[in-house]
Amino acid sequence: MVPVGDVPNLRVLADIMGCRIESLPMSYLRMPLGANFKSNCLEFYSGENGMQTGRVEEPLPIKGGRLTLLKSTLSSLPTYYLSLFTIPISVANRIERIQRNFLWGSYGDGVNHHLVNWDIVYSPINYGGLGIRKIATFNKALLGKWLWCFGLEESKLWRRVITTKYGVNSGGWSTKSPRGSHGCGLWRSIISVWADFVAFVDFEVGIGDRIRFWIDRWCGDRPLKDVFPDLYVCASNRQTTIDSILIRSASGSRADWNVQFVRNFNDWEVEGVASFFELLHSHSSFREGGDGLRWRLKDNGIFDIRSFYSALRHTLPVTFPWKAIWGVHAPKRVSFFAWSAAWGRILTVDNLMRRGYQLARWCCMCRRDGETINHLLIHCDKAVGLWSFVFRKFGIIWVLPGCVLDLFFGWYNGLGKVYSKIWNMVPLCLLWTLWRERNSRTFENSERTNSQLQELFSNTLYDWAIVGDIPEVILLLLF
Ligand SMILES: [Zn+2]
Repeated sequence: MVPVGDVPNLRVLADIMGCRIESLPMSYLRMPLGANFKSNCLEFYSGENGMQTGRVEEPLPIKGGRLTLLKSTLSSLPTYYLSLFTIPISVANRIERIQRNFLWGSYGDGVNHHLVNWDIVYSPINYGGLGIRKIATFNKALLGKWLWCFGLEESKLWRRVITTKYGVNSGGWSTKSPRGSHGCGLWRSIISVWADFVAFVDFEVGIGDRIRFWIDRWCGDRPLKDVFPDLYVCASNRQTTIDSILIRSASGSRADWNVQFVRNFNDWEVEGVASFFELLHSHSSFREGGDGLRWRLKDNGIFDIRSFYSALRHTLPVTFPWKAIWGVHAPKRVSFFAWSAAWGRILTVDNLMRRGYQLARWCCMCRRDGETINHLLIHCDKAVGLWSFVFRKFGIIWVLPGCVLDLFFGWYNGLGKVYSKIWNMVPLCLLWTLWRERNSRTFENSERTNSQLQELFSNTLYDWAIVGDIPEVILLLLF
C-alpha cells in the first residue's frame, strides 16, 4: 500500500488489506513505479536483468544462434515495459546498441565488425532484413493497443478512470489531450500516439451517435469534409453526428439522409450535390448495435500490433531473394552467412581492405586474382569446378550469374516440384562449403583436393537433406 498525501489510519488500513506500507518510487513486479519516467532507473533493462548477455562470458561463435537469441530474448525482454510506457529515446538507443554488439559480437579477440548496415538489419525479412524490431517504433505500436481498447471497452474500469481524469473527445474514441504538468505521464504518452493511430482507423456506423458525419472517416478513404469541402462550408451543423441526420425506415432496410445546409445551391453546384447523395446512398447499410472501429490494415478489421508496427516503419519495399535464403532447410548460421554474402558483406580480402587492413590481394583457392565475394563463391576455378559437379549431378546445364544476389534470385524453385526442395539447399550448401574451405586454407593452412571438396559438399547436403525430410527416392538418385 502506497499512501499519496496524508492518509489517516494508514496502518489500520494496511492491516485490514493485509499488505505492507511502501513509498514511491518503488518497484512492482520489477517494474519501476512512481519514478520520473526519464530517470535512470529505467535502465535496469540494460543492467542486471539480462541485457548484459551482450557481453556473454562464453562467446557464442554462431551468428545464426545469436540471431535467434536476439529475437527471442533481447528483443522481447523490454516488451512488457514497452506495452505500457514510452521508452526514453536514450534508453532505446542504448538497448539497440547492445543488440548490435551482441549480433556482430566479437569472438573474444576484440574484433567486432558490424557487417551489414543496421537499417537493413531492422527491415522485415522479406525486404532483405533480419526482422529485428526497432524499439521506439515497436513501443508506439504496442501503445496503440490501449487506444484501440479505449474506443471499444466503454464499461471497463480502467477506461472509466482515465475518462474521469482527462475527459473524452467527441464520440468517446479518445480522451482530451492532457493538460498541466502534474500527474503521471502514463496516459499522456499513450495518447501521443493517437495521430499515428487514427490514420489507420475507420469508423463503423451502428447507431451513429458516436460518429461525426462530416469529420470522421466512415465512408470511403477520406472524411466527407475533405471529399466535399464546398458542401461542408455550407453545412448547417458541421459537428453533427450521423444518428441525428439519418432517418431509418421501420424495417431497417432503407435509410434516408436529412442533411441540412445554410443556403440553397446554385445550378453549377448541383452536380456536386448529386454525387454527394449518391455516395451517401451507397453507404446505407449499417452494423447492428453501437458504433465501432475498423482497423484498415487487417482484412478482419481488428487491430493488431504487427500491422501497426509495419505501417509505422513504412519500410520501402526492396526486392530480395529472402525465400531462397531463409525458406530453405539449412542451419540458421548458413542462412545468416548467405544473407551476408547476398548483401556483399562477408569478410573477404577486398572487404577487409576496405576496413583498413593491409593484405595481399590474393585468392587462396586459385592462387591468382584478387579475392572478392563473387570471385570466391562463383567465378574462382575451385568454385566453378564445384558448381559444374553439382550441375552434372542434377543433369542440367545452368549459366552462372555474375553475383551472389542474382544467383539466389534465379535459383529458388528452379527445378520443378519434386526436386526443388533439395535444389534450394544447393546454393547455401555450396557457398558454405567454399567458405569453410577458404577459411581452413587461410587460418589453418590445410587444403582439400577437388574430390575431397566435392565429398564435403555431398556429405553436408546429404545431412541437411536427411534433416529436411527429403524423400529417400530422390536421395538415392542423387547420391
Ligand atoms: Zn580464386
